[in-house]
This record gives sequence, structure tokens and C-alpha cells, in this order.
Amino acid sequence: MSITADVRPAAYSARGFTDLTDLTPRELAERAGYELEGAPPIEVLRWAIDRFSPNFAITASMQDTVLVHMASKVRPGVPVIFLDTGYHFAETIGTADAAESVYGLNLLRIRPKLTVAQQDEAYGPRLYERDPDLCCGMRKVQPLQEAMRPYVAWATGLRRDEAESRQSARLVEWDEKKNRVKVNPLVAWSDEQIEAYIAENGVLMNPLLSEGYGSVGCEPCTLKGLGRSGRWANQNKTECGLHV
Ligand code: SF4
Repeated sequence: MSITADVRPAAYSARGFTDLTDLTPRELAERAGYELEGAPPIEVLRWAIDRFSPNFAITASMQDTVLVHMASKVRPGVPVIFLDTGYHFAETIGTADAAESVYGLNLLRIRPKLTVAQQDEAYGPRLYERDPDLCCGMRKVQPLQEAMRPYVAWATGLRRDEAESRQSARLVEWDEKKNRVKVNPLVAWSDEQIEAYIAENGVLMNPLLSEGYGSVGCEPCTLKGLGRSGRWANQNKTECGLHV
């Protein structure tokens, strides 16, 4: 897929953007990341929604709902992609249901081609133990690639604080694999800033976070009490492949 000139934002005058119309999407991502550095996350999100909608979506894991709460304030109805892997905790599905209802989200529940039962039949049970990369590929990476087809830019709740592998994430970056502009409005926020935003705004949270889970993913691949290290704790794996 190629991104054409119509997705290139005009000048972001409020923060001093100059004319960006001649930039390639990759140059645009680099320039926007530089010029938006230090802007509050909600302003970064506003910029992205204004510039790229309707070809813009947000992804949400439903660990917390900070980013979708912000989006609901900026532009109600912006598409929110939730990868419903079939392996989520009931609490995660409950958080998605609550966020959809309370914030009035345009929630797109994206499911893999194969149900868990069909995957078990084709690849054997507990593929996540034997080949988690293949399992994540079929249940997360491929479904997201297909769900992203209508969009030229996307926003994620990714933060540098979450993991070593996310330290180099930027506010706005060119996603080479997805051939799209990736916006990470919360990238520089600390755990404390997230907690403060949740408290100030009464933001919905996955109840597992208050039960000892520091990071919430699929149930078979998430252990309690270990923070981000509780994801694929017994595997040589730290990311599902969506971000790195
Ligand atoms: S996190 Fe685990 S269960 Fe979920 S898709 Fe990846 S390997 Fe499969």
C-alpha cells in the first residue's frame, strides 16, 4: 500500500509547524514527532485525529482506558480497534464492554480467522506454550494488519516506561512494517502520570490491575505479581509483534 499526498497534514500552526505538504509520510512522522515533543498527550491525539481522520484508528488493549478516554473527549466515534484474541481474561472483555458503553466508543472487536477450538484442531492444543510467536501472529498480528487496511495512521497507548524493548519508541514515528504513521501520545508518560490521569478523570481500569497484575495480556500468557515480566514469563519472548 502506498500513502498518497492527501494524508499529509497541513501545517500544525499552533505548535509552529511549517508547510508539511511536500514531505513524505516518513519525513512527516519524523518532523511531527520532533515538533510535537513536549505537547500534552491529548493535544498530540487531537493533532492526529484532525490530520488523519477518517483514515485514523486507535488500538486499545483494555488494560486501562486512558487513551480511549482522551479520544472520546476529542472526537467521539473515532474507530477503536480491540483485538479479541479469544484468550482474554473475562475482566478484559468486561473492561471493553464498559468502555464501549460509558464512553460511547466506536469499538471494533477484531477476531482471528480461527476460533480457539479451530486453532487447537489445526495446530494442537496450547500452541501458546509451544510456539507463542505463531499464536500471536495468527491471533494478533495478522488480524491487526487486516483491520488497519482502511487507515493510514494509528495511535497506540505504548509507553517507554513499560519495557526495555519500548525505550526507543517515539511520539510519532514511521511504522515500516505497517507502512503507516504511528502515533504514541502517552509514550513519555510515567506510571505516576497514568495513575494521576486515571484518578482525576475516573477512568475505567481493568480490575486485574488492582489484583496484582502489572500488565494484562492473554490469560494463558500472563502471570500475576511480575509486572511486564509476567507476560510470556516462561518463554524467550517479550513482545507480541504488534509494536516491535
Ligand atoms: S499472548 Fe499468548 S495466547 Fe495471546 S495470542 Fe500471544 S501466544 Fe497466543
